[in-house]
Amino acid sequence: MRVLIAVDMEGIAGVVDATDVMPGTEAYGRLRRRMTAEANAAVAGAFDAGAAQVTVADSHDRMRNLLYEELDERAHLISGPVRPLDMVQGAADSDCAIFLGFHAPAGTPRSVLAHTLSVTIRRLSLGGVEMGESELAAAVCAHFGVPVALVTGDDGLARRLAGSLPTARTLVVKESLAYATARARPRAAVLAEIRAAAREAVAEPPPRPAPPPAPVPVEIEFLHPAFVEMVACIPTVTLTEPATVAFTSPDAAQAARVIGLCTLVAEESMHSAHLW
Ligand SMILES: [Zn+2]
Repeated sequence: MRVLIAVDMEGIAGVVDATDVMPGTEAYGRLRRRMTAEANAAVAGAFDAGAAQVTVADSHDRMRNLLYEELDERAHLISGPVRPLDMVQGAADSDCAIFLGFHAPAGTPRSVLAHTLSVTIRRLSLGGVEMGESELAAAVCAHFGVPVALVTGDDGLARRLAGSLPTARTLVVKESLAYATARARPRAAVLAEIRAAAREAVAEPPPRPAPPPAPVPVEIEFLHPAFVEMVACIPTVTLTEPATVAFTSPDAAQAARVIGLCTLVAEESMHSAHLW
């Protein structure tokens, strides 16, 4: 069994605020250690279950957050931002996936740092189904026949995935009280429970998923019409409403690549227009 562990940061226990996940801040320097500790707990659980290979994909922001020096010595590490498969780079060579430290989609009430890929995005849908980052990453994994065995994060994410990704186990590491406030579970319990949940998830992963039906229509609604003017210049991408673009991809992996490009261009537009 080859296990991919994609690690985001907003859903790590103890993270509550945007500055907590922003490189350069004092809080970030501390909490990236917790991110690495949670990753190590999941790596240990996967090996407890007999995994032959564990690859950890650093999947937050510029994707250079995990401390390699402190990562379980047995794990491979994918880091750096040039990633055609974005958060789940490595899925093509894996048999099951774990999403660690993930967060709820944009618009989720009372959920720590809930957003979808970028602050520029209000809503994302694939195949007519609204998706957050967990569901998008799961769709890319499904393209390669890789099931998502476990997702960790706050209670808002767990409630959502009970409906949208019911085959994955979920583990709640903190209870969100607001967008930037949470009650974290005790540190020792969090690490022990992640290890146990990863062991159970890898020992009995969900069945191999079918790839999302092809072709894959995608719609992205942005927060401001100025964000989409350049996005709509990307070949195959068309403007459908003042702040919404649509395109169709032959499969979920390519859809994820175009979504990544749209996000980059929208963020560049936001910065260059000094709108944010
Ligand atoms: Zn993140």
